[in-house]
Amino acid sequence: MRLVTYSDGAAPLLGALEGAEVVRLAGEGVPPDMLGLLAGGDAALTTARRAVLRGERRPLSAVRLLAPLSRPGKILGVGRNYGAHAAEGGLAAQEKPRIFVKLSTSVIGTGAPIPKPSSVTKLDYETELAVVIGKRGRRIPAREALAHVGGYTILNDVSARELQFDVSPPQTSFAKSMDGFCPMGPCLVTSDEIADVAAIELRGWVNGELVQQGSTSDLIFPVPVLIAYLSSYLTLEPGDVIATGTPAGVGAFRKPPRYLAPGDTVRMEIPGIGVLENRVEAES
Ligand code: ZN
Repeated sequence: MRLVTYSDGAAPLLGALEGAEVVRLAGEGVPPDMLGLLAGGDAALTTARRAVLRGERRPLSAVRLLAPLSRPGKILGVGRNYGAHAAEGGLAAQEKPRIFVKLSTSVIGTGAPIPKPSSVTKLDYETELAVVIGKRGRRIPAREALAHVGGYTILNDVSARELQFDVSPPQTSFAKSMDGFCPMGPCLVTSDEIADVAAIELRGWVNGELVQQGSTSDLIFPVPVLIAYLSSYLTLEPGDVIATGTPAGVGAFRKPPRYLAPGDTVRMEIPGIGVLENRVEAES
């Protein structure tokens, strides 16, 4: 299923994307929101599948998609996790995943503006596959890791590079946690629809120019390894998000660098998940 959180003008609703329509998921036994659906496991998904058959349908064009999860419990990011991206930064691959966090208050949906604080001059994009945890776990073996995934979405790991690269020590989590710095969407695709998580293609554009292109086959630490590593230290809970890293082509490492300015449009696509698109606006 392609699950969405959407608004038709009132409170956020839970839905499923079917072609150019959104089907509302509601009624007996259906959890009220995405977090409840993920936490409910297979039983909740079965109820949701039944609800698709009788749900109210609206054209996608008549509703507004929100982030699939408006407030993930935690968002764990992984730095330099693609071979080509590590190389463009002039750095050797790490022995262990390089973890940072993004605060969940930075989440916005597709179509929402990315507000650029006036003091930020090195605003950058990162196209990423985001893993959304569906089943709670601690010390999850890599071979069991994918059973803990509820679904996948696209995440733009927006960064204020001056706070990540130009200060010592680096303030990576702060640089990536400002309001609107975590666009996610358009939908959460349940894990049963992703045939091979190690062969997912990602592409990103700025103002129509292709700037990033990669495949999760290039991940230094693949998804099951990340889940095993993180859960060896902390509990992963339903609704937690892992931003798995970005391929080469970010603005900071282009020659010359290409930072985002108000009016720029960032578009990201993963086949089978869809398109995440956001415009940069000057913070008012
Ligand atoms: Zn990133």
